[in-house]
Amino acid sequence: LEPKEEFSHKTLAMDVMRPRHSDPPLSVITQDGMSVEEVETLIADTSYSGFPVVVSQESQRLVGFVLRRDLIISIENARQRQEGVVSTSRIFFTEYTPPQPPNFPPPLKLRGIMDLSPFTVTDHTAMDIVVDIFRKLGLRQCLVTHNGRLLGIITKKDILKHMAQIANRDPDSILFN
Ligand code: ADP
Repeated sequence: LEPKEEFSHKTLAMDVMRPRHSDPPLSVITQDGMSVEEVETLIADTSYSGFPVVVSQESQRLVGFVLRRDLIISIENARQRQEGVVSTSRIFFTEYTPPQPPNFPPPLKLRGIMDLSPFTVTDHTAMDIVVDIFRKLGLRQCLVTHNGRLLGIITKKDILKHMAQIANRDPDSILFN
């Protein structure tokens, strides 16, 4: 089954990406300044496989992508082993970590677990191209931007669901197998 046929009526990335209009906003992590506790809360309150890392909530400029399981392992390790890392410690995905003010707990540096070049497409990219890229690069997810601003995410499952809706067939039988 050719993806090009499935998407002949020019479905765009914006038609498949999440969040939808009625959904809560994308769950992102800022590259500096979030506390260990804030990130742990985000992990506990969501079940997403990963989180885009952005410069700031205001800019929504994409810095990278971090997997949920890597975050969990790194925070657990740091709490157990790294001298002084506590709930109020700041997490940094930046290259350089500014000196912490006196009496602040040591920071937790997590740049090492971040994918620095997550795959991105624009909201106007045609879905047949997105599907080609997913297949060729074996992607699990892809981020969607508009004028450099992060808008959404498309996972492999999002694509399968969308194609199943179009074809009204079992999603597992169509692609990626
Ligand atoms: P899957 O699509 O394989 O279930 P996820 O559990 O990561 O993978 O995502 C579940 C749904 O939430 C998908 O529709 C996806 O587009 C969306 N999603 C993934 N990550 C995020 C995120 N950080 N914030 C908001 N929505 C997300």
